[in-house]
Amino acid sequence: MIDAAELAPRLRAGDRRALARAITLVESARADHRVQAQALVSALRATGRQALRIGLSGTPGVGKSTFIESFGLMLTGQGRRVAVLAVDPSSARSGGSILGDKTRMDLLSRDPNAFIRPSPSQTQLGGVARRTREAVALCEAAGFDVVLIETVGVGQSETMVDDLCDLFVLLLAPAGGDGLQGVKRGIMEMADLILVNKADGDLRPAALRTCADYAGALRLMRPRPQDPEGFPKAMTVSATERAGLAEAWAEMQALAAWRRDSGHWQARRAAQARRAFEEEVRHGLLAALASKPVRAEMERLGQAVEAGHTTPEAAAASLLWLLNRAGDPHPEI
Ligand code: GDP
Repeated sequence: MIDAAELAPRLRAGDRRALARAITLVESARADHRVQAQALVSALRATGRQALRIGLSGTPGVGKSTFIESFGLMLTGQGRRVAVLAVDPSSARSGGSILGDKTRMDLLSRDPNAFIRPSPSQTQLGGVARRTREAVALCEAAGFDVVLIETVGVGQSETMVDDLCDLFVLLLAPAGGDGLQGVKRGIMEMADLILVNKADGDLRPAALRTCADYAGALRLMRPRPQDPEGFPKAMTVSATERAGLAEAWAEMQALAAWRRDSGHWQARRAAQARRAFEEEVRHGLLAALASKPVRAEMERLGQAVEAGHTTPEAAAASLLWLLNRAGDPHPEI
């Protein structure tokens, strides 16, 4: 039993267990939990706290978890509080979780200034991004300064991160040959910072080459209004040797500060909020359509249309009338 009213003050005080329970509430598909979750997220808005939300993407094996551990520890070492949320759009299918194994970030997960949340094993309705948005808001309310949102570099995860984050970092590994292998143009165009990881040992020359290739490609891209001079940028890092991390952080901070001063930060968050609202409405309508009485009426009217007892238009109007009349503000999600 989760008591939402009792969670809010503990969460505001930065209690990580309260935060974990609040996120569980937010991820729950139960209608009563949804109502509580919404009330909790709304109540916590008043804190006005804002974290830097950094999206981090990269194909499996590039070193995301190693990077997050090193980068996260650097930030907590500076007195910052860091939350890590995983988004795995494929988890709905596989039932798996990219962060299911917490030992992936062993040191960070034991750091009192860090909070690591595995990817939710999500529902058939695919609410991963929707619920992650609320989870991010909860982390902010709990006083985390940086929220890292990690995704596996597949499918729509990047757009999802774009909907959730202030900055988008693409992590790459050194390429074997020449050229920009395997990175879709659309993903590159979204990146604010490209970090070529594993710039150490034997891999260092290849990492430098890959970085130069990407820096060249980024220079050829159309300038974006949300960027100051020199962005997007490509840099090398080594997550294992913890090299280049302070430089990468300095660039992220510089970009964030520029966007705050120029108003792009606020505009982006406003647009994200608006898209989230519209998505919630669409989702609510679909959920209402899927509800039992509406489905039954749909079936009845469908048969009537097939039998020629009514026109498709009249039947649709009748169903929409029923939907409008349903008026339940909290349909089953
Ligand atoms: P993920 O799948 O993207 O989370 O990647 P992991 O963090 O699990 O790393 C995949 C492999 O790359 C592991 O064997 C890591 O030890 C290795 N790796 C990660 N970062 C670095 C790095 O900076 N340098 C080198 N040489 N190897 C690294």
